[in-house]
Amino acid sequence: MDEADGRRRLPPVDAILSKNELTEPIRRHGRLAVRRAVRRVLQDIREGIGRPSSDPPPDLSVIVRRSQEILERDHRSLRPAINATGILLHTGLGRAPIAAEAVAAVAEVAASYSNLELDLDSGARGRRTSGIAGLLRELTGAAAATAVNNNAGATVLALRALASGREVIVSRGQLVEIGGSFRLPEIFEVSGARLREVGTTNKTRLSDFRAAIGLETAAILRVHPSNYRIVGFTEQPELIELVELAHAHGLWAIDDIGSGAIRPDGPPGVEGEPTASEAIAAGADLVLFSGDKLLGGPQCGIMVGGREAIGRIEVDPLMRALRLDKMTLAALEATLRLALDPAHARDRIPLWSMITTPAAELELRARALASRLSAELGLSAAAVASEAYIGGGSAPIRPIESAAVAIAPPFPLPGGESDFAAALRVGDPPVVARVRKGRVLLDLRTIPRELEPRLLDAIRALCQDRNSPADGRDRPGSI
Ligand SMILES: *Cc1c(COP(=O)(O)O)cnc(C)c1O
Repeated sequence: MDEADGRRRLPPVDAILSKNELTEPIRRHGRLAVRRAVRRVLQDIREGIGRPSSDPPPDLSVIVRRSQEILERDHRSLRPAINATGILLHTGLGRAPIAAEAVAAVAEVAASYSNLELDLDSGARGRRTSGIAGLLRELTGAAAATAVNNNAGATVLALRALASGREVIVSRGQLVEIGGSFRLPEIFEVSGARLREVGTTNKTRLSDFRAAIGLETAAILRVHPSNYRIVGFTEQPELIELVELAHAHGLWAIDDIGSGAIRPDGPPGVEGEPTASEAIAAGADLVLFSGDKLLGGPQCGIMVGGREAIGRIEVDPLMRALRLDKMTLAALEATLRLALDPAHARDRIPLWSMITTPAAELELRARALASRLSAELGLSAAAVASEAYIGGGSAPIRPIESAAVAIAPPFPLPGGESDFAAALRVGDPPVVARVRKGRVLLDLRTIPRELEPRLLDAIRALCQDRNSPADGRDRPGSI
């Protein structure tokens, strides 16, 4: 049979569309999208992508299945993935997964009208942040609180509202870049406040701050160097000293704790990280932190502090541009409610559970998973000790003891374990893993137990694709 024969024998699009298996996809995605997917599959076959031209054309069921795969893969470009990296707050993977309570709260307010800016008792206009502000006050001891889209936005807004056109003193050891695009000097430029650097990279004394105070000074800003540590001969004044100095000169004391925990008893396992409640107790006028770092809530920038500072921020026009939408507010409120009871939150906030799961428990799961992978799929898999990290700029140098499954590539691949990891990444669901010494490592600290069946499915599909000759296009080896 020559190639042209094979092509001519491809079934017409309409015959494929009338197959029963496509009834449900048509209902779900619409006829047009399904037709487009089928066309793409036929086109790929005609072009012989990934197939020796001598192969017979795939039969109808394979065409239908591949169309379904394309529809599943393409109908959402942003979709759930399995984080097997062991990095808990992985920026590339969306930082913190939120609690089921937060998800439910989002679903409810998103699908219906809500009292977002309506005071139900009086019928008058309400504040969208009043619910979260009360919880934040209770959690941190602050007199006032609000939140915006993210902590970078909170920093710009704070500098603008409290120090526009004036100077803010910052230690040279804290001029950080976080997450690739949060660079403090650039944040200052956007805000309109002027950065006044003092001290050196490793040592800045209280006297350096004092000497820099002048008529132009509006505030002292402390920034937690979240994602790195200066070790050795170092010196930075305590927050409480900075607060005293600022207040003695009528200046604002602002503390950007970034990833910081909300208070010492939550989240657990991050001792030594600054907390919002401690900064408030030290007298800071304004404390900033991300909602999706150690709090384990939705992406947002939380601001707690005195009434005057928060009041100024709330009337700044930029507040309107950075304000939270109802879905984030719902998720944040639910997360804060959980955080009120740290013991309960350990079970309910995914980040808190991931931090506190005992390594021994992960090791048992790793062993069981490795045996299943060996027994069911014939893979060379073993449980190994591993190190997980909080990530997202939190506690950068302190690994958390963890356990992983190390898998050798199931078949020869030109790029070895890297190709295997790449194949897992484009699988369903996508699995993002680390590679080490010829193996792919699946760290269980970031894989909730409930996701293990999905993880197995993804690996199984990869091994099966390899064994199905009609499916050359998706063969991992052809990546
Ligand atoms: C992460 C971080 C930021 C930026 O917060 P986003 O929520 O990512 O915008 C700012 N400051 C510090 C100290 C941080 O750790």
